Amino acid sequence: MASLLVTGSIGIDCVQTPHGQVEDALGGSAVYFALAASAQGPVRLVGVAGEDFPERFTAMLSDRPIDLAGLERRKGSKTFRWRGQYAGAMNEATTLATDLNVLAEKGPTIPAGFRDSRYVFLANTHPTLQRELLSQLAGPELVVCDTMNLWIRTEREELLLTLGMVDGVVLNDAEARMLTGIDNLVGAGQKILTYGPEFVVIKKGEHGVMLVGREGIFVLPAMPMYDVVDPTGAGDSFAGGMMGYLAGQNRVDTMALRTAMAWGTVTASFTIQDFSVGRLLNLGRAAIMARLAEYRDMLRFEE
Ligand code: AMP
Repeated sequence: MASLLVTGSIGIDCVQTPHGQVEDALGGSAVYFALAASAQGPVRLVGVAGEDFPERFTAMLSDRPIDLAGLERRKGSKTFRWRGQYAGAMNEATTLATDLNVLAEKGPTIPAGFRDSRYVFLANTHPTLQRELLSQLAGPELVVCDTMNLWIRTEREELLLTLGMVDGVVLNDAEARMLTGIDNLVGAGQKILTYGPEFVVIKKGEHGVMLVGREGIFVLPAMPMYDVVDPTGAGDSFAGGMMGYLAGQNRVDTMALRTAMAWGTVTASFTIQDFSVGRLLNLGRAAIMARLAEYRDMLRFEE
C-alpha cells in the first residue's frame, strides 16, 4: 500500500433530509474521505479545525487507521460549519449556510513525516489552500482534486490555477457544467481536460459516474439503493474509496482507475445509508467487497 494523504475541510454539519435531520454532526470533505478510505488502509489527514471541535469527533477519527498528525485544532478559531438540505430524489444539496471560519484563515501545515505522500487528494476547500498544500509535498505520484459551486463562482481564477497542477479532478455534473459553460457532460469533461488534468470524473448522483480521460470515456451506474437517508459526503466517500483502491494497488493506469471508480461507487453507497459519518465508522473491507460482488453481478450481461 502506497501512502495516501487527504487535505480539505474538517467540519461541523447540520443537515436536513426527507428522512430527518442532524445538528452539529461530524462532517467536512476531508473527514468523509479519510473515513471512507480508511476501510482499505491507512490515511494521513491534514486540516484545521477550531478550538470548538469536539474531542469525541477526534476520537471517531483516531479509532480508524487515520493518522491525525496533520490535524490542527487552532486556538481562538472556530471550526468550519455547513448547513444543508436535501429534497426529493436528494441528488443535490441546497446550501443554507456556510461559515468558513477557520477555512478563511491560514491553511494547515503538512507535517514533515507526511511530505513524502505518494497519493494525494485535495478534497473540497478553498482552491488557494489546495495549492498551498500541494506546494509542501515532494513530488507525489498522483494528485486528484475536488471542488464545488461556491469556488467556481467566487474563486474561478484560483481554481483554474489549481486545476493546472493536478492529475485528476472529481466533480459533480452541475459543477462541470458551471465550470465550463457546456451542458453536454462529455463536452464539459473534455473542456476540463484542456485546463490541465489527465482525467475528469464527473459524479451524477443516483445516475452514477463518468470518467473522461485522454484515452476515452468510461461510465458506471450508481449502486441502486432503497434506503438513501443522507447523501452528505457521498462525493467525498466516492473519492476515498477510489483513491484508497489506487493507493492500495499502487497503480494509476486506466484499468486501475476504472476499478477504483467501482470501489468508490460502492463505498459511497454505504455513506448514504445513515446520517453524517454514521455508517463509515465501522465500515470494513469485507463489507465493501461483498457489495462489490453484488454490484459486479448487476453489471453482467452476455456478449
Ligand atoms: P459532499 O461529498 O459533496 O456531499 O460533501 C459534503 C461535505 O462538504 C460536508 O460535510 C460539508 O462540511 C463540506 N462542505 C460544504 N461546503 C463546503 C465548502 N465550501 N468548503 C469545504 N467543504 C465544504
